[in-house]
Amino acid sequence: MTSPTVKLSRRGVERWRAGHPWIYESDVEAPKSLKGGEVVRVADHKGYLLGQAFYSRASKISLRWLTWDDTPIDEAFFAARIAAADALRQRLYPGEDTYRLIHGEADGIPGLVVDRYGDALSAQFLVPATEQRKELIASLLEQHFKAKAIVNRSDVGVRKLEGLEPFKGVMRGELKGPKAYLEGHVRLSADLLQGQKTGTFLDQRENHVLASQYAAGEALDCFSYVGGFALQLALKASKVTAVEISEAACATLKENAAANSLGNVETVAANAFDFLRDAVDEGRRFDTIVLDPPSFAKNKGAIEAATRGYKEINLRALQLLKPGGHLISCSCTYHVDEEAFEAMLDSAAADAKRKVQIVEKRGAARDHPVLLGLRETRYLKCFVLRAL
Ligand code: SAH
Repeated sequence: MTSPTVKLSRRGVERWRAGHPWIYESDVEAPKSLKGGEVVRVADHKGYLLGQAFYSRASKISLRWLTWDDTPIDEAFFAARIAAADALRQRLYPGEDTYRLIHGEADGIPGLVVDRYGDALSAQFLVPATEQRKELIASLLEQHFKAKAIVNRSDVGVRKLEGLEPFKGVMRGELKGPKAYLEGHVRLSADLLQGQKTGTFLDQRENHVLASQYAAGEALDCFSYVGGFALQLALKASKVTAVEISEAACATLKENAAANSLGNVETVAANAFDFLRDAVDEGRRFDTIVLDPPSFAKNKGAIEAATRGYKEINLRALQLLKPGGHLISCSCTYHVDEEAFEAMLDSAAADAKRKVQIVEKRGAARDHPVLLGLRETRYLKCFVLRAL
């Protein structure tokens, strides 16, 4: 059976040829019979084949790149993309079994995210095409990893843009409690059903481990969640204060600290904005500070407010930093890009009257690769700064 054909406008053809993995609805002429979720042949206005894509009807993003040719998009195709994605992770983390396995477009399966936590996998099906193929994908994952459980964590807002409802549940096997894993020397665990995202924030894993290198003296971790940064700081600092608004996350953080025999971590269940302001007023000082807030802007309209929020916490953190101290400042807001984030830091440092060095500019862990041509996959910024 041949796939339906979708024609691109001249601009669409240019975008496709330039390697843009997404083509928007204004550049696409699709047969009315398509419901969304189909694999389509992508053609120019003369009908010349350009490749294949996933089609979405409800979304503004109509096409998502799959191939440059007419390779059948079947079980073997998905098995090969999964194997190729896993090969990268095995090269990055030999022998490890906790990592992001499929990072959507960047691994050649648009609209699919899969994280591996040992013998359990946690997946997000973000577009109709992956939603409709979820049982096939689950079977392939089950075979490839001999998985004991596959969790569907499609409880995310972006599905609305695709006309899909949020969903959460175990789709294969049985999930027996949280999954333990290591980040450097720290033992953590992820609850694949109740935890944030697919269970936890794997994108910060390499930055967590790095943080221990900069930790010293009195350390402060704001927006701690279950302690990914705080526990790494605790390996080297004399004392760590972890500020997190969720009481439940604070409780898990305490358990995690105890499980690692780290007795130097104090949790404060509070709004980090208030904590930072009060700490400045009280004249407190820290040697190492981490800021890793949630996304402050979900759309372009919120960029200004988000930047104000970032500036406020970074300004205060710089006021609290001892000379020679380090600030690890993160942002997962895609709409505030690296350049804008750096400009914000610039102005925070000036207002704080601090001279600040950039020691490292980092992104998400390497198992969250960035796809050239798709800026959206470059969302996480992590700057390591040092105050003179
Ligand atoms: N640093 C964590 C991830 C942080 S995610 C890690 O590396 O694993 C952001 C966290 O900030 C969430 O746990 C959320 O509950 C918390 N949070 C959101 N708003 C907050 C606020 N105003 N003050 C303190 N914590 C907040």
